[in-house]
Amino acid sequence: MIYKRSSELFNEAQQVIPGGVNSPVRAFKAVGGDPIFVEKAKGAYLYDVDGNTFIDYINSWGPMILGHAHNPVVKAVSEAAENGTSFGMPTEIETKIAALAVSMVPNIDKIRFVNSGTEACMSAVRLARGYTGKDKIIKFAGCYHGHSDSFLIQAGSGAVTFGTPNSPGVTKGTAKDTLLATYNDIDSVRKLIAEHTNEIACIIIEPVAGNMGCIPPSESFLQDLRQECDKNNILLIFDEVMTGFRLAKGGAQELYDVACDIVTFGKVIGGGLPVGAFAARDEFMKMLAPEGPVYQAGTLSGNPLAMAAGYAMLSELNSKPELFTSLAEKTAYLHEGIAKQLEQNNVVHTINRVGSMISVHFSETPVTNFETAAQGNNETFKAFFHGMLKEGIYIAPSAFETWFITEALSYKDLDRTIAACGKIAATLH
Ligand code: PMP
Repeated sequence: MIYKRSSELFNEAQQVIPGGVNSPVRAFKAVGGDPIFVEKAKGAYLYDVDGNTFIDYINSWGPMILGHAHNPVVKAVSEAAENGTSFGMPTEIETKIAALAVSMVPNIDKIRFVNSGTEACMSAVRLARGYTGKDKIIKFAGCYHGHSDSFLIQAGSGAVTFGTPNSPGVTKGTAKDTLLATYNDIDSVRKLIAEHTNEIACIIIEPVAGNMGCIPPSESFLQDLRQECDKNNILLIFDEVMTGFRLAKGGAQELYDVACDIVTFGKVIGGGLPVGAFAARDEFMKMLAPEGPVYQAGTLSGNPLAMAAGYAMLSELNSKPELFTSLAEKTAYLHEGIAKQLEQNNVVHTINRVGSMISVHFSETPVTNFETAAQGNNETFKAFFHGMLKEGIYIAPSAFETWFITEALSYKDLDRTIAACGKIAATLH
């Protein structure tokens, strides 16, 4: 494959955009090489500026659950654009999508729309702090909740400890209020709660982690978290930016039958337009401005194009619940096919999968938390990534990312992917 035009565009971009990209992972830093510039996408395929075609396993990092340029979404956006692109005033479509989302997701009465997953999580934490009157939060090492200051925290001296900023610009003052626990380790959470009695406002978690590869919650982990929160007057926030409207109509809450107090959304909920949302029972949501004292706002929140896209997307998912089963079946087929190819070629691996989220780790040990995810062989991953790319298969350019399966993928596409995997696996030693 030739990436001449992409490389030229990347050089130009670097002159005027930091690192040439508007979000770091796009720069291919983890795998090396220049990123691919997209010309267009349709269904399961990406077309780049050099005329190459790829089967897409990223799907804009999740939103494209029904494939790129999905006709009902494109139609809804085009029609909405004819009537104006933003008003900063209420519109009927906002109520329609809110009512639909509330009907699909368990344990919520009201939903507030924002412009990104970052905003959703940041606002959810503010609401939890406002409601409980407490300052500290618990997050899990390896979970990502966007780039707001409170989440850009890494473990300090011990694995479970006070956080320290992991980006310049995040103050020590902010870092002291974020406590880090270990994913799938309830004792690490209990320890923090015991050390900080009556100080913790909320626990925020990806109920299925998607930002250290795909990591399922171990049995009873989410239920145990629920119990700890109930016992200690702590709110449980499920960050369902990836899992919401993807694992089931009602997301991970439905799949695992565990209720959270506040749930955040992004990705699928906007049909590919910049949308995030957070939702909860009225008891919590009534704390929000203008009804209550917790401030939260946005000039473009509830934007008519974004709401039209999201409404078209959610309507389709709501009317075809069999889609979730079909997606899970496709993902299981891919899982089996890839595992077989890697086994036949003696490539050490672990594959994690929940519903339509899947990740391949070049690691022998089960991948259950950040530490075990980090043990994967990154050199093997790099070779695998570039090999697959040459075969026209676009997977995430980092070993810490999840692949997102779209309904637009055919079994023929999956077979092509599995065959490519076999070819590359034979070279991975
Ligand atoms: N939460 C999770 C679980 C995410 O995966 C992401 C983005 N990958 C975010 C929050 C942040 O969303 P955004 O990039 O839209 O700000």
